[in-house]
Amino acid sequence: MRIILQFPEGLKQQALEYVKKYEKEGHEVFIASAPCYGACDLCLDEARWVKAEKIIHFGHAPFVKKKLPIEVEYVEYYIDFPLEKLKNLLLPLEPYKRIAITTTTQYANKIEEIKNFFKENGKIPVTEKGYWAINEGQILGCDASSVKKLEGKFDVVIFIGEGDFHPLAIDTDKSIFTIHPQTGVVRVFTGQIEKLKKKRKGSILKAIHSNTFGILLSTKVGQFNLKIAQWAKSELDKRGKNALVLVANELEPLPTNNFLIFDCYVNTACLRIADDTEEFGKPIVNIDMLREVFKVWDELAKNQKG
Ligand code: SF4
Repeated sequence: MRIILQFPEGLKQQALEYVKKYEKEGHEVFIASAPCYGACDLCLDEARWVKAEKIIHFGHAPFVKKKLPIEVEYVEYYIDFPLEKLKNLLLPLEPYKRIAITTTTQYANKIEEIKNFFKENGKIPVTEKGYWAINEGQILGCDASSVKKLEGKFDVVIFIGEGDFHPLAIDTDKSIFTIHPQTGVVRVFTGQIEKLKKKRKGSILKAIHSNTFGILLSTKVGQFNLKIAQWAKSELDKRGKNALVLVANELEPLPTNNFLIFDCYVNTACLRIADDTEEFGKPIVNIDMLREVFKVWDELAKNQKG
């Protein structure tokens, strides 16, 4: 069979190993080399050009729920870590009993062991599956609905993983602690989320005073939201604004800003693009934020009529 392999940046160095394995099994193997940031980003174009019969996508859990023109196999990639690192959380977690546990796909296979660790230490660990993040306890940068589903059942949230990208998706009034599973470094994370919320409020305020909007529409299969982009355009048109739908696979700041006409971007792609206001140098609003802008405009228009 002719297959195409797709790796996230961190796993590309393993490409040769996998190519050898699949070639040994008799397959003709191609590699998609463009950057791949998530499970939403499948190499459908590359597969079509080389007439591949199957995509093997590494490092992410199944995500895309749409019907696809080609068979896709997701191969998750797990990283081990010493459970005793979690001991570093016990002191900060002392005031709390019920713990919502979140992690990334790389550690999701250890979720039962993690829960047992906390049970043995007198806690009540709770987990859920998200909407897009399909493993128990797993969250994505665009989906921490597993925490939302647990509302009322936990006193604190912990995130086991690296970086800020995933825990910034968590929306809760409770405290959040993160732990790096390899180093055991614990951080209080609540402040970062507050900062992000303020940043988004700032974008909404700037959007309220904007006239010309670029609506970002990504052709990445898991981010492609044509109907939403069309809806945003017609709603902006209705309110007397200029709105253009900008279509690209990769929504890069430089080519997007070269239009020089936009006061603000409306993001219909990966929700987290709205956080890249520094890179774009413009306010960026997601659709829920745009709805808030509409509310303000409509209220102002009503008052002016009255
Ligand atoms: S939409 Fe964004 S956050 Fe969600 S999986 Fe894709 S890259 Fe990650």
